[in-house]
Amino acid sequence: MPVRVVVLGSGAAGLSAALVARAVGAEVLVAEATTTIGGTSALSSGAVWAPNNGASPQAASDSAELARRYLRSLAYGDVAPALLDRYLTEAPRVVTWLGEHASLCWQPLPLPDCYRELPGGSKAGVRSLEPAPVRVDVAVSSRMRGALPKRPPFTLAELAGGEASPELAENRARTGTVVGGQALIAALTTAALAAGVDIRTSTRVRTLSSAEELAGGPSRIVLATGGFERDPVLVQRFLGSPLPGLIGAPGAVGDGLRMAMAAGAELGNMAEAWWCPTVRMPGEEIEGHVLHRMLFTERARPGTIMVGAHGRRFTNEARNYNEVGRALHAFSPAGFFPGADPAWLVFDAAARRGGAIGTLAPQAPDPSWLIRADTVRELAGHLGVPAEVLEHTVRDFNQGAESGTDPEFGRGTGAYDRAIAALSGTTAILRPLEAPYYAVPVHAGAGGTKGGPRTDDEGRMLDLRGRHLPGLYAAGNAAASPFGMAYPGTGTTLGQALVFGHLAGRAAATD
Ligand SMILES: Cc1cc2nc3c(=O)[nH]c(=O)nc-3n(C[C@H](O)[C@H](O)[C@H](O)COP(=O)(O)OP(=O)(O)OC[C@H]3O[C@@H](n4cnc5c(N)ncnc54)[C@H](O)[C@@H]3O)c2cc1C
Repeated sequence: MPVRVVVLGSGAAGLSAALVARAVGAEVLVAEATTTIGGTSALSSGAVWAPNNGASPQAASDSAELARRYLRSLAYGDVAPALLDRYLTEAPRVVTWLGEHASLCWQPLPLPDCYRELPGGSKAGVRSLEPAPVRVDVAVSSRMRGALPKRPPFTLAELAGGEASPELAENRARTGTVVGGQALIAALTTAALAAGVDIRTSTRVRTLSSAEELAGGPSRIVLATGGFERDPVLVQRFLGSPLPGLIGAPGAVGDGLRMAMAAGAELGNMAEAWWCPTVRMPGEEIEGHVLHRMLFTERARPGTIMVGAHGRRFTNEARNYNEVGRALHAFSPAGFFPGADPAWLVFDAAARRGGAIGTLAPQAPDPSWLIRADTVRELAGHLGVPAEVLEHTVRDFNQGAESGTDPEFGRGTGAYDRAIAALSGTTAILRPLEAPYYAVPVHAGAGGTKGGPRTDDEGRMLDLRGRHLPGLYAAGNAAASPFGMAYPGTGTTLGQALVFGHLAGRAAATD
């Protein structure tokens, strides 16, 4: 009699678990709460941080030992060293396994590690991968969560290499070829269905007993339900400050966390998220829920700065989104308020035309919600920040930018800052702002939360005494991330989901 495995959630973690559990002989049922397969993973860029992956010629310069040194230099917060070690061993195997079992081709991303300058940090083209475009059958795509509206149908490598063109976009649409998170989920779903995994959408499971009922008897259960960022009560309880900038799918309401707590699991990394700064495009939502867009390359474009309610800059705007997002939560002891939300992205006309701001296309006419002013003083009036302070901030920034430096925050000194700017098609990163000026509010957000039940290094859930909770497994954002506060490189979140999903699925099928 084959082992029965029920996977709750059909994102990267759930499908990775389901695919391997099926491959080693289990009967596998995936229950997905929403009407479509893929969760936030389907909306993502599909990048995966996999040290020592061997997927490109440049990767030959890498090793698990180098990556271990790098992770050690980022070890702050609730880090789980044994799981990180396991990650370094398994990431290369899992990306290879997915290449063989889900026909995923991986290509290197032109991005270095987020802290390339730290010991063991890596240059661009080595550790961060993305799936090559995937041609998806309509029988699969019709069951999947679609991409976010206006997401360009290009890989990050194509965007960086200037290969994005209307002809390529037209060809992609005509041939049903998808990129990024869509490619990842299309490949995993196609392989899972072909292998005989039963994927049931519109099936929200909120108790462990109902998971077993659904499967028709005793089963091993993998919680892969994503994070809890869309549940305001859990956010307030564990994160300490509001999280208005939600950019992912609606299903991340903490069902897995509640089931784990009810089962007596020990929790870990609960105060952390994959933070990011966001912008809200007025009128945009996802299935009736809030939807913001991550500010990614906009912050690193020449002629832009970010300021808080005090009118001053508060960070290097071009740092990775986890750190900039975290800075938005910095508690202000003077004003007793929990962070810089909303902050403001202030930019000039050349930056406005130099690329999209959120989904506002560079060539589109200025919409009525876009704040515009002819002087910094007038802009300060619109933003409600002290005019003298904002004038001082812009003057200071411009002075440094004239000579290509940022004495206050060192923007442009890190390899990652420069790589992000390059994605906007520029090698410059600093340029003085010139009138007229524009601004949009920036909100504290996250690509997902990072806390949940603790697991061993094969995804088995642990109780308060560190013992296995029999038959229970967790992976992805539903589990405690071993990375603590860190976001080592582009794709850490999906890397964690795929690798620990794989380990949890295999353990569930074979324990
Ligand atoms: C725009 C965007 C771009 C991103 N780009 C990247 C990137 O390039 N690389 C990277 O590493 N990260 C990226 N991220 C973050 C990353 O996508 C997520 O952190 C990751 O997808 C989480 O995977 P998961 O499998 O844990 O959860 P999800 O993909 O969210 O899947 C969880 C699923 O569980 C379902 N579910 C919830 N509750 C239940 C229940 N009770 N019963 C059944 N099903 C349930 C949900 O509906 C959902 O479908 C991005 C995020 C966004 C929003």
